[in-house]
Amino acid sequence: MADRRRSLLHPQDLAARGLIPPEAMVDIARVAARYRLALTPAVADLIDPADPADPIARQFIPHPEELQPAADENPDPIGDATHSPVKGIVHRYPDRVLLTPILHCPVYCRYCFRRETVGGDQAVLSAGELTLALDYIRRRDDIWEVVITGGDPLMLAPAALGAIVAALDAMAQVRVIRLHSRVPISDPGRVTDDLLARLDLATPVWLAVHCNHPRELAPAAAAACRRLTKAGIPLLGQTVLLRGVNDDPLILEQLMRAMVANRIKPYYLHHLDPAPGTARFRTGLAEGQAAMRHLRGRASGLCQPTYVLDIPGGHGKVPVGPCYLHDGRVTDWQGQQHDYPDVAPGRSSC
Ligand SMILES: *Cc1c(COP(=O)(O)O)cnc(C)c1O
Repeated sequence: MADRRRSLLHPQDLAARGLIPPEAMVDIARVAARYRLALTPAVADLIDPADPADPIARQFIPHPEELQPAADENPDPIGDATHSPVKGIVHRYPDRVLLTPILHCPVYCRYCFRRETVGGDQAVLSAGELTLALDYIRRRDDIWEVVITGGDPLMLAPAALGAIVAALDAMAQVRVIRLHSRVPISDPGRVTDDLLARLDLATPVWLAVHCNHPRELAPAAAAACRRLTKAGIPLLGQTVLLRGVNDDPLILEQLMRAMVANRIKPYYLHHLDPAPGTARFRTGLAEGQAAMRHLRGRASGLCQPTYVLDIPGGHGKVPVGPCYLHDGRVTDWQGQQHDYPDVAPGRSSC
């Protein structure tokens, strides 16, 4: 069912919904003038205005600290620009490429690593730019997979997204199309039969759902995920480890279980990229590794994402543990150590 209520796009909208006190409007307007603000009705409904530490509000409500970047923060933290041969393409790995046809989002996450590029006035590729981007992919025989991301590709009209995936479907070397989106959670009414019909191609379409807190998988979001899987689209879960949102291992466990219970296979747990003004979300790597150890010790193998770090400068993603092999010994899920002949003594073997 399409949600006909309007998104909250201005500080006044937040105040009118009781999500911020009126006296915070001036500060929040300064932040929103720099980094765009949007909350869909579905996301606003998830917020408990009485909770000053609400994990949903924390992800989407602007905060004055966003305008105080730390010294080690970077406007292009994962080096997209160094690997962009034409507008709308990021090509870092030989077998797969990112296509970003639209840099608008249904909601603007306050920790976004592309916060300097999303939400602008020129945020949609023109017809000519899109043709050039598709030509780039068409000419390269080694591109096995196209990851359509953004922004959020499900912000395109179904016909526009349908035309893009149909063009990719016609390229013999492209064997997999992957969409990355917040829409199933933030605006589930956009997952329509029309959209699903356009994604029904000979080339398999996978969809990675960005989801950071178990509460985000509310009934309407769960129903959108069900429609996607019924349409033959396998779902992956993509989570960013965020202080004050999901850095509690018990919350993370609930999130991973909620995803699997909704047919979403947890794929990546991302360590936060150092985008400007995101320090309030940062955790240490050791905390992420401890959370992963907790998951391994308690939950089904289906609930285990890979914890990854995107190396600043454009060097790509790497798994960052935890490591279970040290000094001639292997650690089991309960923390007990065992000898294993293949693990070299005296050092870590990861
Ligand atoms: C994250 C990313 C991908 C996808 O990586 P996977 O490990 O296949 O999910 C591809 N290209 C770029 C530039 C990326 O940043």
